[in-house]
Amino acid sequence: MQKINIETYKKNYPMLNQVINLEEYFWSNPNLVQFQSAIKNSPLTQEDVKDADERLKRFAPYISKVFPETQETNGIIESPLVQIPFMKQSLEKNYEETILGKLLLKCDSHLPISGSIKARGGIYEILKHAEDLAFEHQLVTKEDDYSILASDQIKEFYSQYSIAVGSTGNLGLSIGIISAKLGFKVTVHMSADAKQWKKDLLRSKNVEVIEYEADYSKAVEEGRMQAAADPACYFVDDENSHDLFLGYAVAASRLKKQLEELDITIDENHPLFVYLPCGVGGGPGGVAFGLKLLFEDNVHCFFAEPTHSPCMMLGLMTGLNDQVSVQDFGIDNKTDADGLAVGRPSGFVGKIIEPFLSGCYTVSDEKLYSMLKQLVDTEELYLEPSALAGMIGPIKLFNEGNDYLAKNNLVKKMEKSTHLIWGTGGSMVPEKMMKEYYQKGSPSK
Ligand SMILES: *Cc1c(COP(=O)(O)O)cnc(C)c1O
Repeated sequence: MQKINIETYKKNYPMLNQVINLEEYFWSNPNLVQFQSAIKNSPLTQEDVKDADERLKRFAPYISKVFPETQETNGIIESPLVQIPFMKQSLEKNYEETILGKLLLKCDSHLPISGSIKARGGIYEILKHAEDLAFEHQLVTKEDDYSILASDQIKEFYSQYSIAVGSTGNLGLSIGIISAKLGFKVTVHMSADAKQWKKDLLRSKNVEVIEYEADYSKAVEEGRMQAAADPACYFVDDENSHDLFLGYAVAASRLKKQLEELDITIDENHPLFVYLPCGVGGGPGGVAFGLKLLFEDNVHCFFAEPTHSPCMMLGLMTGLNDQVSVQDFGIDNKTDADGLAVGRPSGFVGKIIEPFLSGCYTVSDEKLYSMLKQLVDTEELYLEPSALAGMIGPIKLFNEGNDYLAKNNLVKKMEKSTHLIWGTGGSMVPEKMMKEYYQKGSPSK
């Protein structure tokens, strides 16, 4: 990697100082363009998302069979969308700011199978790989009922192949669970941030877990290297994967239906604001891309990162994308938001998402804990710290986003707006651990 001349960048981008000083920062993206011109230059399209959607539908009978918790939704892995009016009141009181419009939470924390947003992209990519192999060996056709893939014979077939992935925890959990279920041999390379319970859970499912003292980028690098040495091994490359991205993007059409069910209109006079916790960028990038395809200029997407791991914000702000890491700017990438503890952004998400993205902001770990507690107290919903990064979004928007609102002719529409927080994980966190999180959110501490 080239050596970044920090002083030059600081001079050209004065706002970098605040980010480097670990102060919270709200950045609206100067490179956002109208949807119709942005999509013309996009390497990924609606067709790609539709293809992913259809693949997940083909696998639904299989998913329903092997994960009985998905029977209710006929094998479609989806999460609830709920209004959180009491949390809204509490945020308004706490931060002395009015949130105009409705406040909703997308509970990917409660996605079946692996309890985080990774149950979208992660599971999708493995299913796609499994399907490719099955087609290649003529074990199944598109017209078949895919529940036949649950047979011992097919599991035996998949056991000749292996899967590897590098992860801060949740991606490993998703990839590990689905790969082991299909019959693959699977190895998860875990960064130092990964929580012990996630490693224990994976080992209990016969997943090989390799632990590193270093951060996420190192775990990915090691995984990639070991996988490259074995032709039967498929590496899920979180830093570069179009399949992960497309698996996440399918969320949008499902969300559209859920909004309709709640009688919530999104159109020119009823804007939608979405706040997405961001690590390497695939999850929030994919979801935001899917939403832009459906709602075009009526949806406004913001990425949320910890003050100690603002990799996507730095990449976009400087235009350096994955050529820069937070460490290059002297930022330590140490955060309790383990799902977001990423020092270098994805190699392609920044470039794809740049013309579609409204902005990024950072939030302190302390606020994540305090909102975690607030959400339990007001709505009895339990999220992990990473998943709360989006929650401060509407406050930030009304506080620091006035230029954005004015420029996009939104000021008068805010009373009819909807704010959607993407709650990216939490339902699988052990109770004892959740209690500790909750206690860290108490002001007495
Ligand atoms: C992985 C993760 C994210 C972010 O997804 P990326 O694809 O890494 O950007 C957000 N929240 C949680 C809980 C996660 O596990």
